[in-house]
Amino acid sequence: MDRAAFETLDRDDPLRPVRERFLLPPDIVYLDGNSLGALPSLVVQRLSRTIRDEWGRGLIRSWNDADWVGAPQRVAARIAPLIGADADEVAVCDSTTVDLFKLVVAAARLRPDRPAIVTVEDDFPTDRYVVDGVADLLGLQVRNVTRADLGAAIDDDVAAVVASHVDYRSGYRHDAAALTATAERSGALLVWDLSHSTGAAPVDLHSWRADLAVGCTYKYLNGGPGSPAYLYVSRRLLDAGALSPIAGWFGHAEPFAFDDRYAAAGTAQRFLAGTPPILSTLALEAALEVWEGVPLDAVHHKARALTGRFIELADDHLAPLGAAVVTPRDPEARGAHVSLRHDGGYPVMRALIGRGVIGDFRPPDLLRFGFAPLTTRYVDVWDAVETLRQVLEGGAWRGDHRSQPGVP
Ligand SMILES: *Cc1c(COP(=O)(O)O)cnc(C)c1O
Repeated sequence: MDRAAFETLDRDDPLRPVRERFLLPPDIVYLDGNSLGALPSLVVQRLSRTIRDEWGRGLIRSWNDADWVGAPQRVAARIAPLIGADADEVAVCDSTTVDLFKLVVAAARLRPDRPAIVTVEDDFPTDRYVVDGVADLLGLQVRNVTRADLGAAIDDDVAAVVASHVDYRSGYRHDAAALTATAERSGALLVWDLSHSTGAAPVDLHSWRADLAVGCTYKYLNGGPGSPAYLYVSRRLLDAGALSPIAGWFGHAEPFAFDDRYAAAGTAQRFLAGTPPILSTLALEAALEVWEGVPLDAVHHKARALTGRFIELADDHLAPLGAAVVTPRDPEARGAHVSLRHDGGYPVMRALIGRGVIGDFRPPDLLRFGFAPLTTRYVDVWDAVETLRQVLEGGAWRGDHRSQPGVP
């Protein structure tokens, strides 16, 4: 195949018009939408209107007149179909880290006689820090196990399990329905972290019979830097009395009754704590409008195709230069990013970024490329491999000993 073949794939891509809903610089290949999604143009319009008219002129009246107060629920209703949930099982608030804390505490309290929480060794660090913190707080033990040992580690002593659906480094994707069933059989509550899945790989919480989940919105959902996260609590667990450890007024059944006593809302809104960050919540609401009319099957198909093509080209052109694919080759076992292991480390990625191909680097030695299906073109796959081939052959990165700057 040559570059022209990739141009043909773009021409035939049913999602091609969706990319035009985003503002992307013309001179770069952006393969980091799995870390910070691109900017939808609707967000620019929405935020300037909100700031000038609703905040500037409407002032306090905008809580009602512009329905700021309903924003978290409206956004939850837009996320629900993307994750296979009902709107009242989803809340949009705080960060993924804080939401995970709330759900792990809630899960542990629903299983009071069980002393253990299970986490996965290679999962995103914040998830493991949160579990250690909850274990400390509640006097529980942590079983930090390899992914291969995960199923076997879930026994009758386990209150909660935390697992990333798609691994942030390797891109490995769990068989979510199978692992959820394993947890259910031993009575443990599994909290899925969907940060690297939603908007990229199939997520169907109801069909998985999932209990709890959290996820990030600034990656494949394009909510903008630090946009609020979402959490999911199944109707079963809401009815069983799942509660946030942060009993705040926005989680109250009637926040504006200013009641003396806390009474949790009947829906997942009970997991809200304080005043929602309205600007970022409304930016996220506008960003989610790009999903209107977009068939999720086409999105998942494109993610498989982009990653599959990249893997093929990398095997042919980059593996001989020392960059080996570490992401699963089975499309059912990966998300929408691919990682290559290379000894050159971060200087290789810096050289690549210098040539206009933006991926990222994850220690100790992974070059990571995200193929956000709404914004990535097939030619981007070709151009990225070709540019990386030139970088590796040229070897200019070898003299670069600067360390990696801070990246979230
Ligand atoms: C991106 C990501 C997070 C981010 O958490 P924040 O609280 O938004 O910083 C958490 N978990 C996983 C698996 C992630 O990929």
